[in-house]
Parts: sequence; structure tokens; C-alpha cells
Amino acid sequence: MTDTSLGKQMHSLATMMFPICRSITGNGVRQTLNILKEEIPLVIYEVPSGTKVFDWEVPKEWNIREAYIKNSTGEKIVDFKNCNLHVLNYSTPINKKISLEELKKHLSSLPDHPDWIPYRTSYYKEDWGFCISHNQLQNLTEDTYDVCIDSTLTQGHLTYGECFIPGELSDEVLISAHVCHPSLPNDNLAGISVVTYLAKELLKSKPRYSYRFLFIPGTIGAITWLSINELHTHRIKHGLVASLLGDPGTFTYKRSRRGDTEIDTIVETVLKSRNPDNKIIEFFPYGYDERQFCSPGFNLAVGCLSRTPFGQYAEYHTSADNLEFIKAEILEDSYNTYLEIVRVLEANKKFLNTNPKCEPQLGKRGLYSLKGGDNDAKEFQLALLWVLNLSDGEHSLLDISKRANMKFESIRFAASKLEECDLLKEARKNWT
Ligand code: ZN
Repeated sequence: MTDTSLGKQMHSLATMMFPICRSITGNGVRQTLNILKEEIPLVIYEVPSGTKVFDWEVPKEWNIREAYIKNSTGEKIVDFKNCNLHVLNYSTPINKKISLEELKKHLSSLPDHPDWIPYRTSYYKEDWGFCISHNQLQNLTEDTYDVCIDSTLTQGHLTYGECFIPGELSDEVLISAHVCHPSLPNDNLAGISVVTYLAKELLKSKPRYSYRFLFIPGTIGAITWLSINELHTHRIKHGLVASLLGDPGTFTYKRSRRGDTEIDTIVETVLKSRNPDNKIIEFFPYGYDERQFCSPGFNLAVGCLSRTPFGQYAEYHTSADNLEFIKAEILEDSYNTYLEIVRVLEANKKFLNTNPKCEPQLGKRGLYSLKGGDNDAKEFQLALLWVLNLSDGEHSLLDISKRANMKFESIRFAASKLEECDLLKEARKNWT
């Protein structure tokens, strides 16, 4: 299978999820998770409306069958079936005839992009509304309009999915993607597809860490998950929030609140080596679910890795975030970046030099004549000496590569050769 086909597979997965009208609760999330369940072993959880989750409550479940605006001749001028962004997400039901003036109070448009339809929500304030293009709004004439939103907001459940991949260690890596947006491929069908394929890859062989993939509605989903799993969170040693991974921009990594954790260092190293234009920014308490994972009561080592940050591309939260906006080769680049981060994390062990009193004799073990992969012999020897000197159980291979100013891969290769000669053993802890 070529790499290109992997990008296309992720794009097809996004295409399958595209037509579904998702929200923070309801059947849209269930249908989406059922599609993902065909790809990876996903456990779907249902949390009843009204459940107390820290300072919040699981909201009523929202479902929608149809919505339209008809003019007085009976012509449907706006139809939810054509584009689910047309309905204010979480709209209460409505079915009545109103004037143009009254209708306009419930319409949103984008004057700067008159052909695009905006995406709007009203989760925590009961309201109804439609989103239309500014051109259409300007062409509306005085008339009596028949507005219908056939939705329900009732006691039900909040739904989320979890895929757990057990590793050799009980220490966990948390990777989460929000699943609450309707037909917006970059936000976040791209992220969902990339992490689903990452999970598929990790399922092929037992990883060192255990991995927990969360597919949750934004904010309330993370709050709900943390509330239910509070006693479990001490196992989470590293984490990433995956969002906005299909647009053509470079990557932006937002550090964890702690700012100097292993995942922060690894992501920074990988991003810089892949493209010097990739950006690293400090934590701030706004954005995606890192807000909850990094709230002071949890303070987990979780950062957010996206391409162009939210609000910084014109198509953000509009109908122009469509299936053409996300490209297969970009999805694949996002996947490869995430995979490289995971590979470095998996390999970033701490070792103990078994012969710490003076340097061991490398020549008699055949290590002086070896060439290290694509490195020359001299660089390989230097890497061996750095690994031996700093392997005191305190320094990880990434720490060593930074101190030595050598590539992680060179240090990792030297460590593997020293381990083969029993000059190095892993400093182990937290084995399952
Ligand atoms: Zn969004």
C-alpha cells in the first residue's frame, strides 16, 4: 500500500462522516462513532442528561429531523437537507409563520464572505435560528415566511467513544479529538480520521505505552470524561488534543500548561526537524479540550497539535470548510507527524550504563568498527560515548540527543547497539 493511498483512505473516512449532523449530544455523534467502530475497537459510552459533572451538568439530548424556511408560494428557500450548517446547532423546535422583520432576528450570515454559510451554535441558551449566505439574506423580500425546525431537546444522553490499546506499561498516552461539529471537514473530521488511523497503526503490535483515544464532544465531553475517570487520570503521562489537521497551513503546537513536559519537548523536536516554519506557542486557557485536561486540578501533560490554529483561516466555521478544503496529502502529512511523535515517545527510554566506572572498552566488543546507520563511524562513536556517559537512569535518549546536539535517531541507534552488548539496560518502572 502506498503512502498516498493512506491519505486517500483518511479522506474517504472524512467523506463518510461529512453528511452527518453532529452536535454535543444526539444521534449524529452515535452515527459517527458507529462509523469509527468499523475501523477500530471503540467502546461507546452513554451518560444520562442531568448527570452532574464537576460544575456542569450533562445537557439535554438534541436531535433534528428536518428544518426549512418556505416563502408564501411554498418554495423552500432554505433547506437543512442541503446543508446542515443552515440550522443554528441545538436550535429549539419551531413551526410558525413570521414576517421578514421577525425572521431576520433569527438569521446569521457573513458579510465578508457573502457566498458562505456560517456555523453557529447555541448550546447553553435555548434559542432557534438559521444560517444563510449573505447574498441570500440581502435578496430576501417582504413576505410571510413559514419556518420549521423539527428538532427535539429532551432527557437523553451524552455519547462518547473510547479506544484503549494496552501496552507494556500502565502509563498512558491520551489522544483526544472532538466529534461535536456538523459538516466541517477540517474541524474536526480531519483530526478524527488522523487519530483513527494512528490507532489502527498502533494496534498492529503491542506498544510500550498504553494508548487511550477519546472521541468526545468538545468541552462538555472532556469535562464529563474527566469527571467519570477522575481516579484514573494519574496514569496519563502524556497527551495530545488533535484538531484542525487537514488545512494546508504549517503546524502549530500549543504547549501543555506545565510547558516543559516530555511530550512538549518531543513535539517541539519533531516539528522543528520536519519543517522550520512549524510554530510552538505557550499554553493559554482557551481553545480545545486542553483547557480541561490542563485545568489546575488535573494539570496533565497534554498539549494541542493542529495545523493553522482556530480562527486564523478564513474558512474556519463556515461552509467553505468543505471536502475540497482538506487534502489527502495533507491528512497524510498530519498522520506522519503524529506517528513520528509517537515513535519518538515510544523510543525515548532511560537507560543505565552497566559499566559506569570509567569507559568500557568498545573495541573488543566490535563497536568501534561499526557504522551507525546513515552516520559515519566517527559520529557513531561519539553517540556511543554520549549515551554511555549520560545513561544514569535520569536522562532520556531525547535529553542525551539535545545535550550532545545530535539527531535523536543517531542516539537511539547507538543505544540499541550498546544494549545488544549488555553495556546498557533499561531503567524500568511502572510495568503492567
Ligand atoms: Zn470549531
